[in-house]
Amino acid sequence: MTKLRQADPLGIQRVIQTPGLKRSLLPQQADALDPSLPIAEDELLIEVESLNIDSASFHQISEACGGDPGKIEKHILELVAKRGKHHNPVTGSGGMLIGRVTQIGPSFPLKEKPVSVGDRIATLVSLSLTPLQIRKIKKIHTKIDRVDIEGHAILFASGIFAKLPDDLPETVALAILDVAGAPAQTRQLVKANQTVVVIGGGGKSGILCLAEAKRKPGVRTIAVDYSDAAIARLKELSFVDDVIQADARNAVEVMEKVWSATRGHMGDVVINVANIPETEMSCVLSCRPKGIVYYFSMATSFTRAALGAEGVGADVDLRIGNGYTEGHADLALNLVRENRELKAIFTQQYT
Ligand code: NAP
Repeated sequence: MTKLRQADPLGIQRVIQTPGLKRSLLPQQADALDPSLPIAEDELLIEVESLNIDSASFHQISEACGGDPGKIEKHILELVAKRGKHHNPVTGSGGMLIGRVTQIGPSFPLKEKPVSVGDRIATLVSLSLTPLQIRKIKKIHTKIDRVDIEGHAILFASGIFAKLPDDLPETVALAILDVAGAPAQTRQLVKANQTVVVIGGGGKSGILCLAEAKRKPGVRTIAVDYSDAAIARLKELSFVDDVIQADARNAVEVMEKVWSATRGHMGDVVINVANIPETEMSCVLSCRPKGIVYYFSMATSFTRAALGAEGVGADVDLRIGNGYTEGHADLALNLVRENRELKAIFTQQYT
């Protein structure tokens, strides 16, 4: 029997350390990982079926490749061969994957994370730190940022995952789980009777945040998006009170429109889920003094947000969007299960 690598819950032994660097790196910080087999005593081996590339990352790759699926395929293969993970160097983000568990190391913490060989799971840790080897790309679904592949991935003992539910199509579950942190954080941030502004509100995390916010009594929801299609979609939704069509990169335009919609109150909580860069200041300017701006978007620049807020004298609470909140997967899946409109949109768009 092949000897397994020693247990290593954070996966540090998978990091290909940068020559000359005198500190050890975690897998997310590393330029490259070693995704080779065997697994370690506490790792999980997954035969991967699909990658759900983070929206900001897929958008950037697609733009760089002129939208050509052949070029996107080559780009992804080269990126993963070079880095041993799908970690976009421009956006810094990854995504997540679904696949079937094919091997469980004897020291994997099964008590806290029950799983069996043969289970189909979605990883809830970023592809930017998940060791990955692609043998073949089978299909690229450019409209939903998904790539079907043959290959294997490794989950560390510290990693989290969800078993794929059997009451939702897997592509729908994958789309929801990818952004599960956003509605979960929304539940924590939004209080009754507040005004919530969601920038990029027509996308998948946007509608989840809007629906979640509207569950609190007296909350008013305002969605900001750009394309006619997104605006038309948003106008149909009962849990969206106001829809603003504006380019989120145009901070003053967004601020003026939010000002008109709220008669100067502005957002108590502003959530950024746009998948493009340079939208930080439309959030800052749409937020009331002492309000909260929550940046879930991976295209967010910490520097632009922090210095930009300081530059306009905005005393707002800037929060970084952690993709993980305890219970986030169930919360997001249940939100869709219990909301007919969400279920219809996700089913229509992701099956
Ligand atoms: P999505 O479905 O692609 O939604 C993005 C939305 O932004 C779309 O409705 C898009 O509208 C809109 N948008 C694009 N350009 C705009 C502009 N100039 N002005 C206004 N709206 C604009 O993306 P998603 O999957 O919900 O993800 C949203 C963000 O969350 C991405 O940046 C993603 O990287 C990030 N993310 C973060 C985490 C985390 O852990 N924090 C995890 C997963 C994803 P159109 O359709 O009209 O282009």
